[in-house]
Amino acid sequence: MWRCTARAEALLLLVLLAAAGTACAAPGDFQACLSELRAAAVRAGLGGDTFLGATAGIEPDQGVLDAMDHQPEFRTPIWDYLAGLVDEERVADGRARLAEWATVLGEIERKFGVDRHVVVAVWGVETDYGRRMGSRPLVRSLATLSCFGGRQRTFRGEFLATLRILEEGDVPAAALNGSWAGAFGQTQFMPTTFQRLAVDFDGDGRRDIVGSVPDALASTANVLARAGWRTGERWGYEVRLPPGYNGPAGRRTRRALEDWAGNGIRRADGSALAGTGPAALLTPAGTRGPAFLALRNYNAIFSYNAAESYALAIAHLADRLRGGAPIATAWPTDDPGISRAERREVQERLIALGHDIGAPDGIIGARTRAAIEAFQTSVGMAVDGRAGKKLLAALRAIAEPPPAQREGR
Ligand code: CA
Repeated sequence: MWRCTARAEALLLLVLLAAAGTACAAPGDFQACLSELRAAAVRAGLGGDTFLGATAGIEPDQGVLDAMDHQPEFRTPIWDYLAGLVDEERVADGRARLAEWATVLGEIERKFGVDRHVVVAVWGVETDYGRRMGSRPLVRSLATLSCFGGRQRTFRGEFLATLRILEEGDVPAAALNGSWAGAFGQTQFMPTTFQRLAVDFDGDGRRDIVGSVPDALASTANVLARAGWRTGERWGYEVRLPPGYNGPAGRRTRRALEDWAGNGIRRADGSALAGTGPAALLTPAGTRGPAFLALRNYNAIFSYNAAESYALAIAHLADRLRGGAPIATAWPTDDPGISRAERREVQERLIALGHDIGAPDGIIGARTRAAIEAFQTSVGMAVDGRAGKKLLAALRAIAEPPPAQREGR
């Protein structure tokens, strides 16, 4: 039963999909491919028993291929992205983790020279401090991606690196689960990154970034250190642009701090620019929104997962964990993003209105978006499926009985 066939036909006209070679996992192809992978494993010096044990009875995971082909229907605005990733809940959780792991984090700082707040922020953004590490068996996902789709070469390397994890006994097979793309553990390493940079920090002889928090946090610090983290320096800070600023911006335009100061740029609190340059000016929502000067350590964070909004989420969460303030400048929108607690409230209120969207988990997935669109249609709002402040206010307004009724209860 290969449901992708009908789907691929239906989408035949989509040039993009055709160009990407819409991946369709046929069973015969998979068995032939597994034989090739086995030969590759043997060439890489991996024991045949490890391969057979790991791949016994596995079938391709069409869900993994669908995830790879998925084109998000709309770009998440950065204010939604940050409102969910750096909310009060994640700040409070992170501060609790800083206290709980203070001794280990102190040892990690001494050994790797990387600021504990940044390490814990990576943990919080990647997996909500270990709560969401991904549940897809890594071997199956990576075998699928090694045999189908447009990046088989890359994923074959990840597949072999996964077999090596099993062969060397770093992580038990039953615990080796992760995202559809093969990132796993408390801080979501790809297997090849794991092989290069993961460390055993709790001293049990295994590099277990799934089961051992010290191993995961130290491995993360090691990645950041190798990416050029400079001990004792900040990643950067929020700045204020002069009115009508139309000078250079962007991660690749790096200039001396004196040059930025000469353009009239000050820190958000009005003080002079500090730190060791050069720096880049980031304006993720344009010059009317928040602006940041990114120093060298921002690039180390960026290299962890090359996406600007992602790096900014980690950098900002690290600041909040250190006791820093929320971003001072408002985002250029009249409908700001909402926290995960508010997203759960949105879902609870939609459920109360009869929408079947599963348990409220604070994640705005396809079913929640469909319910939001239905609600927006019913109350005459603009229909965009987005969970923001205005939607929450509209849901609250509809669910609260008018004051007269309340008093009469
Ligand atoms: Ca260990």
